[in-house]
Amino acid sequence: MVNAFAVPGGYVYVTRGILALMGSEAELAVVLGHELGHVNARHSIRRMSEMMLAQIGLIVGSALSETFAQVAGLAGVGVQLLFLKYSRDDERQADALGVEYARKGVYNPGEMVAFFGSLQKLGDLSGGHALPGFLSTHPLTSQRIEKVKQMLTASDQTLEVKERPYLMRVDGLIYGDDPRQGFVEAGRFYHPEMAFTFSIPKGWKVINTPAQVVLSSPDEKAALVLQAEKTTEDLSAYARKKADQIQGSQFVGDDNLKIPGLASVHQVYKVNQQQGGAIGLRLSAIRKGELVYTFSAMAGSSDFSRFNEEFRGSAQSFAHLSDPAYLNRRPRELRLIEANGRQTLQEIFSSSGVSKDLWPSVAILNGMELGAKPPQGQLVKVVR
Ligand SMILES: [Zn+2]
Repeated sequence: MVNAFAVPGGYVYVTRGILALMGSEAELAVVLGHELGHVNARHSIRRMSEMMLAQIGLIVGSALSETFAQVAGLAGVGVQLLFLKYSRDDERQADALGVEYARKGVYNPGEMVAFFGSLQKLGDLSGGHALPGFLSTHPLTSQRIEKVKQMLTASDQTLEVKERPYLMRVDGLIYGDDPRQGFVEAGRFYHPEMAFTFSIPKGWKVINTPAQVVLSSPDEKAALVLQAEKTTEDLSAYARKKADQIQGSQFVGDDNLKIPGLASVHQVYKVNQQQGGAIGLRLSAIRKGELVYTFSAMAGSSDFSRFNEEFRGSAQSFAHLSDPAYLNRRPRELRLIEANGRQTLQEIFSSSGVSKDLWPSVAILNGMELGAKPPQGQLVKVVR
């Protein structure tokens, strides 16, 4: 994911994806400055309540919102700020502050122009869809780039860029999803680090975060959330306690589903929401090692029976992962290669084992066309 965002309190986050796209300390300085601009001008505080609703709506249909928010623990603010949207005026002000802060840090703010260009190209390459982060939260109109250009002064050119020191620091950075943190393949979810796997209902969307795996049905009428916790508590009592934390939940009955080789309990609840209709909820608590894995499956009462078999199927497919072919998946890494001055970018990619489908995007990471010839000694980013 290519993104940068700020949370109240002044913490600024930059993703691995955006770090891979940057080519100098000056670019990082402007992006950090931009985010600090949002914090200092109090933009995020103002937008937070609007955005909390957007975040929940983004994942599942509105009928599920309340129950889903409680199950997924969306009371915190961190994750939601990933989807923060600022107004055009806020963005312009943050750009201006970013330029000013970078300059005061003795970095050339002009580097922002090239960086915006790369962002735009990456957005075009993905048809504007595959970049959920910085591009969508930060509308990058040509007008905005023009505005930044107008803020630059002649003396900015004399300030630091620090290309090489930056590149040396991102050498070895993980690129793309880290499969050790979980990946989807042929209709199953695999988590090598925690050594588990389960099947995904056909066509369902998967959002994997460190705290939970969220699945939503194609029509967004149903959601399945998987969470894990270390506990020695009796499974039945544990599931009851989980349900008690959800406002308006009423026990309906047990389902005597069996999961081969693992102790598990499965309970069905009805949740009366304050707003919207009643929700059907299934809790499956499964013990594997020191952890208890909980599947919380939910859908509006009228839709629940339609999804019940898919809910049961996912829970029942949960299993310990022992196949080394999945356990030993390695992530892709960003690597640096010094150009010899004779090869084109494409020839460098080809000879250094960059997978062909990545050529267009890795060219953008380098800010160059595939046919261009990087001069001798220039550090070229490759991914493998
Ligand atoms: Zn912004």
